[in-house]
Formats: sequence, structure tokens, C-alpha cells
Amino acid sequence: MSVRPHPVKLYYVEPMFRHDQPQAGRYRQFHQFGIETIGDASESVDAELIFLAYKLLDSLNLEGYNLHINSIGDSSCRPAYIKALKEYYKNKIKNVCGQCKNRIKTNVLRMLDCKEEECKEIAKEAPQTVDFLDEACHAHFKHVLEFLDEAKVPYIMNSHLVRGLDYYTRTVFEFVPEENAASQATIIGGGRYDRLIDLLGGSKTAAAGWSMGLERVILALKEKGVAVPEIGPKPKIFLAQLGEAAKRKSLLLFESFRKAGIEAKSSLGRDSIKSQLRIANRLEVKFTLIFGQKEALDGTIILREMDSGVQETIPVEKIVEEVKKRLKHD
Ligand SMILES: [Zn+2]
Ligand SMILES: [Zn+2]
Repeated sequence: MSVRPHPVKLYYVEPMFRHDQPQAGRYRQFHQFGIETIGDASESVDAELIFLAYKLLDSLNLEGYNLHINSIGDSSCRPAYIKALKEYYKNKIKNVCGQCKNRIKTNVLRMLDCKEEECKEIAKEAPQTVDFLDEACHAHFKHVLEFLDEAKVPYIMNSHLVRGLDYYTRTVFEFVPEENAASQATIIGGGRYDRLIDLLGGSKTAAAGWSMGLERVILALKEKGVAVPEIGPKPKIFLAQLGEAAKRKSLLLFESFRKAGIEAKSSLGRDSIKSQLRIANRLEVKFTLIFGQKEALDGTIILREMDSGVQETIPVEKIVEEVKKRLKHD
């Protein structure tokens, strides 16, 4: 990957497996969609990734999520922050939950986003990461926010938003439901991880990305009663056929439409013209091409305009051009 032109932009949709005992409402195996930009440290990458997440939720008609954002600095400025945080928690340690009593040694950052009431209360007054950013990290964060302002992406600065692992740097963000920000209901989470690749033994390579739990998205769509939007371009034509010869010739014809960039659908498994026209109607295509036994012999095809029901017979070698022309006048 290091020889590809940077940044390398990747996406994945994969099953994932939780190692920990899954909490209530979480599955051990789940599916995740994610995008990553590797090899670019600039703030425009962070903003672009966040913008894409924002637009994705928008295109799914999923409303009611707020973007929370924070910067957790990097290895040059974070140690001072960790020190201040430990200092802050030192004389409050008897009041935090059992897990956090260990976290002060192992992972003090995670004390900030602990979901226990007593810990949330104490975290309110804790020192904030942004006050400890050095000049470079501060400028980076400022520029990310400026990009978001420009792109009109609303955000909430959340100083309790952290990541517990050392490879995370600078920007962290999450999209959380506005009515239940404290819950585990984050729908998209991500950030910058400039140290991951070199910690794994690679050369130092900046990277950022986010991921989204698909089961959670499906649940949210159901809860909110949002219909799943149509994905991809709508088909423009339907190719109906009748008889073996026509069916066989349909494959190549279908391919020539695909090559011409015209979205076509067909149902080669069906033999009745009536049921094929019914599908064509449901797909709301503009034209249906009817390739019957006679046409397959003559080298012609019937072009039916679905709205008017008007049919014309056209030489099959001209049909792609003809459809192209008529779609253009649309
Ligand atoms: Zn820094
Ligand atoms: Zn706690």
C-alpha cells in the first residue's frame, strides 16, 4: 500500500467480532461499514471524512444525531494532559466507580467517558484536552472546525470525547442521538490514528477514518420508521423477452446497454410477457423493449413507451442509439 499514490482511500463492509462480553443490546458478531484515508495528515482529510458521515446519515434520512468532536492531541502534548488528569483524579479516587479505580493507572482518559453517574459528575470539572494542545495540534483542530463551518456541518465540542488507545491522535468524533447522548447509541465513530501504522511496525503514516455499526443503523431506521432509500441509479429501461432465441440474444443486448451507460433491468427467468411488463411498471421505467420470437428472427425489437403504451418496431442494431437519443430528450 505504501507504493500507491497517497492518500489511499479505502472502505470496507465486514463482519466483526467483539472480544469482550457483549453488553445488553450488543451482539458478539456484528457488521461494520467503514472508510479510511491513509497517508495524509492534513485537516482537510478529517473534515472530508466527517462531511461524508454527515451526508451519509442525511441520505439515509436519519435525523436527530449530533456530531460531537474533540482533539486529544498527540504524543508530544498528550503526556502533559495525562499528568494533569491523574493529578485531578488523585484525591477523588474514592468516589469513582470500581472500574475507574483501575483506569487511573491503566487508562485514565477513559475515566472521562465512563457512563457511571458518579464518574460523569466528577468528569464535568476535569481538565480539558483542548487546553493542553500544543501549537501544531491546536492549529490542526482549529482548521478542522473551520472546514466544518464552511461546509455548514454543525458540531458540538465535547471535551469528554476521548479514545483510550495510544495510536489515536488529534481529532476524535462521534455521531450520537441528541435525545440520549449518554447512551451507547453512537451511530458513527471515528478519528485520526497517525500512530497506528508505525506502532504495528510500518513506517510513520498519518491516517484517519470512521466506522458505523450496521445493525445499529438498521435498528435506528426501524425505530424512526424511516423507509430505506433507493440506492443507485433507477433503471431507465426494461428488457422483456419471449421464447428461447430471444432470451439467448437478450444477454448480449443487455450488455450493450450496460456499456452505453444505460441502466437496464430484465427478468430472464420469466417467460410470460404479462408478468415482465408488470415488473417494468413497478420499476417505473420509461421504456420497455420487447424481444419476441418473431423479432428475434427478423432482427428487430419492439420499443414501448410505458406512459403512452405506444409501440414501435426498430432494427435491433439501432436500438441502443435510439434509446439513448430518446432518453436525452427527456
Ligand atoms: Zn500536539
Ligand atoms: Zn467510572
